[in-house]
Amino acid sequence: MSEINKVLNDESKNDKELIKELSVYVKNHKNKKLPINKEFVKGIIDISLRNSEVDFKKIEFVNDMSIGASWLPESMGLEFNLTGALKYARLLKDYRFHSKVGDNDIFLYYSVIEFVIHELTHARQYYVNLIEKNEVYNSCEELIEKKYDVYRVNHDKVLIERYAHLRGHTLAYEVLSYIYSMEQIQEFRRIIYVYLLMGYKVNHNGDTISALDKYNELMKENSLPIVNIDSNDDMTLYDRLYLGLPISTLEYHRLKLLYADIWHNDDKTQRVKTLINKL
Ligand SMILES: [Zn+2]
Repeated sequence: MSEINKVLNDESKNDKELIKELSVYVKNHKNKKLPINKEFVKGIIDISLRNSEVDFKKIEFVNDMSIGASWLPESMGLEFNLTGALKYARLLKDYRFHSKVGDNDIFLYYSVIEFVIHELTHARQYYVNLIEKNEVYNSCEELIEKKYDVYRVNHDKVLIERYAHLRGHTLAYEVLSYIYSMEQIQEFRRIIYVYLLMGYKVNHNGDTISALDKYNELMKENSLPIVNIDSNDDMTLYDRLYLGLPISTLEYHRLKLLYADIWHNDDKTQRVKTLINKL
């Protein structure tokens, strides 16, 4: 599934540097007890853009009621809504988390980073498709254009959204893991599992339905080719999950057990990827 890999390019060469720069910035901000305001959001965006492979010709910051960011194809520009970003992050902070361990700012830091990375991931997906037409991207675009209601209801299962969620949450978790204790960030690790397992389930025959199957079910005649497990032998379990590809029923059950155990595993050095690939 090289088309999916192209859209994702998850381990892009800049991600390590991006995580490092963001963690230094947030740590400084926290130590100085500065307010989490538009200036803070702008700082997160500046660092993320500096480490983006997308060559934006123009960046505009706007303050209105609309949510998020928009890519401006005519000018190769990006419009980022600072008020919307902050508002959305506050909203997410209030309903997303079960525990509110210690420093409440941690949830806001997390939500701002996740939001910015999510939007920039969409900008990158669009950019990659401009350079070379991409089957996965075009298929998602078609769904959004032709069946907007289906897209809205199944938002998180649409592949470009799935990948934007995964990249946003994974990077936000990695950034905060340099600043906070494991006890404080455990919940974020749980969220990554939720998104990784989204779309997967075992059907009545005992076979595993993958995220890609689920997506194809929505797409019907415009579905992407089904890939079987055998053709993915060279990929790790985490990679297959990340891309939404098939996994075995045994792997599915092991993942469920690992997910249930996540609260008891407080080893900070264990990234989600490492834990899953140990199965
Ligand atoms: Zn999105």
